[in-house]
Amino acid sequence: QIILVTGATSYIGTHVIKDFLAKGYHVRGQVRNDSSAVKVHRVFPDAVASGTLRTVSVPDITVEGAFDKAVEGVAGVVHCASPFVMQVENNERDLLDPAVKGTNRILEAVAAHAPQVKRIVITSSFASIVDPAQGARPGYTYTEEDWNPTTWDDAVSTESGAVAYCASKVFAEKAAWAFVKEKQPNFTVATVCPPMVYGPVEHDADIKKLNTSVADIYRFMDGSTKEPGETGFPAFADVRDVAEAHLRAYERAEPGRYFITSGSFEYRDVCKVLRDVLPDRADKIPDPEATPAAQFYKTDNSRSAKELGMTFHTLHESIRDTALSLVALEQGK
Ligand code: NDP
Repeated sequence: QIILVTGATSYIGTHVIKDFLAKGYHVRGQVRNDSSAVKVHRVFPDAVASGTLRTVSVPDITVEGAFDKAVEGVAGVVHCASPFVMQVENNERDLLDPAVKGTNRILEAVAAHAPQVKRIVITSSFASIVDPAQGARPGYTYTEEDWNPTTWDDAVSTESGAVAYCASKVFAEKAAWAFVKEKQPNFTVATVCPPMVYGPVEHDADIKKLNTSVADIYRFMDGSTKEPGETGFPAFADVRDVAEAHLRAYERAEPGRYFITSGSFEYRDVCKVLRDVLPDRADKIPDPEATPAAQFYKTDNSRSAKELGMTFHTLHESIRDTALSLVALEQGK
C-alpha cells in the first residue's frame, strides 16, 4: 500500500513518513523541487534504496490539477504540507492560499483520480481550535468542539502573523470538512490538531533556519533569549505522538477531529528542563524564575486517548529530546 505524504521535507512529515514505513507501508513523499527531494533521500537512505520510499514533485500545490499525477495508485494520503511561518509579506498569498487551496487541490485530485483511496488524514492544528482574541483565557478548556472564529477579512488584513497563520489552518480544515459534506467522496477524512510541536528533529534541518516550533525552543539554548517571557501558545505536543496519531487516525478510518496534546506548559518550564539536561550551557539558558508563573487555558486530549488509544510524552521528555537533537545538529551529526 502506497501512502502519499505531502510536505515530505517537514519536521512533522518526516516523523509521519518514518512511522508509516516502520508499519510496512510504502511512502510517496511530495516535495516542491529536486533539492527538497535530495533532503528527503538523505534522511531515509535505506528506504530509498529498497524502493519503499520515493519522492514526487509538485512545485505549486495551489494550482488546478496540482496533485493529479501524485495521487495515482496511492491507497491513502496524509496532507501535511502547509506554511508554518509567522512573518509574511502578504497573508492571503503566503499563508491562506497554500493552506486552503492546497487542501482543496489534494481532495479534488483524490476524488477525481484515485477512487481507491478510502482515507485522508490532514495535519491541522490547535490553531484551528483556539480563539486568538481570547488570549490566555484562564479557566477555559479547549476541546475538538472549539473552532477559531477569525473571519476571512480579518485573516487577510491582520498585521499579526500568528493570527493569520492560525486562520490559514482553520480555513484549510473547514475546507476539508465542507468538501466531504458537499461531494460525498469515497474517502473519509480525519484531522490531527496539535498545538506547539516539540521533540527530536529528524528531518534534514539547518540549525540557522529551523522550523517555527523547534526554533521556539532553540532560542532558549543559543544565548539569544534572556528571559522565558510570556508563553504565546501555552500547550504542546510531542512530534512522535503527532506522527503516531496520523498513523492511528489513518488506520481507524472513521471521520474524526483529534486534538493531540500533552497539555499545558510555560516557557519557564522549558528553561528548567533545558538547564537540567544541558548543564554545560546553563549560563546561556534563561533563569526560569525570571518570568512569573501565569494562568491560562487548559486542553482536553481525552478523545484522542479514547478513540486513538494515544498516550502522550511529558514536557521533560519532549524538551530533553528536542535539545539533544539540536546539540547533535549544531555539531553537524
Ligand atoms: P516545516 O516548516 O518543517 O514544514 C513545512 C512543510 O510544508 C514543508 O514540507 C514545506 O515544503 C511545506 N510548505 C511550506 N510552504 C508551502 C507552500 N507554500 N506550498 C507547498 N508546500 C509548502 O513545518 P512543520 O513540520 O512544523 O509543519 C508541518 C505541518 O504541521 C503544517 O501543516 C503545520 O501547519 C502543521 N503544524 C505544525 C505545528 C508545529 O508546532 N510544528 C503545530 C500544528 C500544526 P518545503 O520544504 O518545500 O518548503
